Amino acid sequence: MPFYTFRCSACGKEFETRCTIEEKEKGLVPCPDCGTTELARIFDGISLSVSAKEKASPCPGTAGGVCPHSGGKCPHA
Ligand SMILES: [Zn+2]
Repeated sequence: MPFYTFRCSACGKEFETRCTIEEKEKGLVPCPDCGTTELARIFDGISLSVSAKEKASPCPGTAGGVCPHSGGKCPHA
């Protein structure tokens, strides 16, 4: 079973727990503090921030190497 990180929407508690994908998708995971199943998955926010960071970083190919965006499609050219 995978680990998921959640934040409780009711009390703000952040916790990691093992659960099945089905339990997660159906909202069956309870907060360990208050027992509510109104949880926000923190993992989703991490994914978004990582992709935003990648977009903001400069193209590594422009530092003298081979641009990974070859073919005239480099967004950093
Ligand atoms: Zn809670």
